[in-house]
Amino acid sequence: MDICIIGGGITGLVAALRFARQHAGNVTIYEQGDTLGGLLSSYMISNTSSNGSTPQNTTHYTIEKLYHHIFSTDTMLLSLFSELNLSSQLHWFSGSTGYYIDGTIHPLTTPFEILRYSYLSLFEKARLGIFTLRAKKYLNEDLDSITAEAFIKSELGEGIYTSFFEPLLRSKFGPNVKEISAAWLVSRVAIRSDRGTSGERLGYLEHGFSHFIDALETEIIQAGGTIHLNTEVTDIRREGEGWRVNDTHYDVVVSTISPTQIQVLGGLECEQVPYQCSICMTLALPRDVLQNIYWVNMGDDAPFGAVIGHTNFAPYEWYHEHIIYLAAYAPQPPAPGYEQKMIDAFCNIFSVQQSEIRWHRLAIEPYAGPLYKTGYRSRIQSKEIAPHFFAAGMFSRENYPERSINGSVAAGEAVVQEVLRTIKQSQE
Ligand SMILES: Cc1cc2nc3c(=O)[nH]c(=O)nc-3n(C[C@H](O)[C@H](O)[C@H](O)COP(=O)(O)OP(=O)(O)OC[C@H]3O[C@@H](n4cnc5c(N)ncnc54)[C@H](O)[C@@H]3O)c2cc1C
Repeated sequence: MDICIIGGGITGLVAALRFARQHAGNVTIYEQGDTLGGLLSSYMISNTSSNGSTPQNTTHYTIEKLYHHIFSTDTMLLSLFSELNLSSQLHWFSGSTGYYIDGTIHPLTTPFEILRYSYLSLFEKARLGIFTLRAKKYLNEDLDSITAEAFIKSELGEGIYTSFFEPLLRSKFGPNVKEISAAWLVSRVAIRSDRGTSGERLGYLEHGFSHFIDALETEIIQAGGTIHLNTEVTDIRREGEGWRVNDTHYDVVVSTISPTQIQVLGGLECEQVPYQCSICMTLALPRDVLQNIYWVNMGDDAPFGAVIGHTNFAPYEWYHEHIIYLAAYAPQPPAPGYEQKMIDAFCNIFSVQQSEIRWHRLAIEPYAGPLYKTGYRSRIQSKEIAPHFFAAGMFSRENYPERSINGSVAAGEAVVQEVLRTIKQSQE
């Protein structure tokens, strides 16, 4: 059996690994980019430290194009790390948080900092605390048809919604904020409640997730799989019992790209899922500007919704410079000039000279994640969308009500089971 996998992100890599290891057939991945990993791919950086005007050592490191960490509840991912012998490289760090309002960073990690925060009353803080503790008890199916706005206003009141949740939702979903379901919001609150007095417990791989992508690539090739980089799938058509992808025949296709792209490429009827675009700048500085905080949400107006101090989370010694992400989401890719707008705003807000920025890169990902609007759950479709054509990825059941690395590992595993079951049934 010849199997084609469209997309070399986590879903595609995990599916390829399982097909290849189970000798289910000849598996080939098509990836349009020049590296594997999709949204979890990394930059390779060379950093030359200097002593005054004299260059010293050059260190090389990889850093994710988009900020990533994992949670202790990511069971499928943790078991894959163990299978790939990566568990000893996994570290659990404290993720501290803050809120930038009225020109100041307000730390919000320790109980004392939360008590001192003046934008919510003591009563509102108590309600928020109880809500966070109860978040795990809500059922997604009950929350899918209610907007996050209506739910929070009814559970916690107008004040907490406007001063706390609305800026967060707006920075994540922009103009779609009023349509996002309570299922998405409550699941985020629940997953982020794994915290101690020094912050959230978040996992990260020593020297980055590029080691995970490399390990998957090595294992797939060793198990006999084929990977084509820089190979965009531009044409999919039915051919006999199987499919022609570009100019090659396959018995089975597993697509991990968005349903919109599948429909455009192959004319296949499938449930459409609206996506949003991520605009993420990574930059390096010689000093910390975030008061040692990992995650600062922007309450004030800025062309980014959060500023993430990666080296206030992972050790500075791994990089020898401070790495910062400026994170924004939008319905579409931004107009030219946005890059400079982000830099100007960052320098202005955090009193940084542009000459202090050692390097910066901008990643624009038009398919960064589905918009979890109300009613999403009932529209999740089954994986076989046409005979011998399967679709799995961020839009799959395993990634509801929020996409994640763990969800894509689960979607990759599940689609392989589904393909093998379907093929077996058709042979009986
Ligand atoms: C800003 C940001 C931060 C995130 N942070 C976290 C985090 O902290 N923790 C977490 O768990 N998750 C996080 N995620 C989510 C996580 O990155 C994704 O859920 C996961 O990586 C998705 O993997 P995937 O394989 O399903 O999709 P993708 O990574 O999108 O893979 C799809 C692949 O298909 C390729 N492709 C597209 N079209 C074609 C074509 N026509 N031909 C060939 N190839 C094609 C793409 O290039 C891509 O490589 C974050 C996502 C974003 C956007």
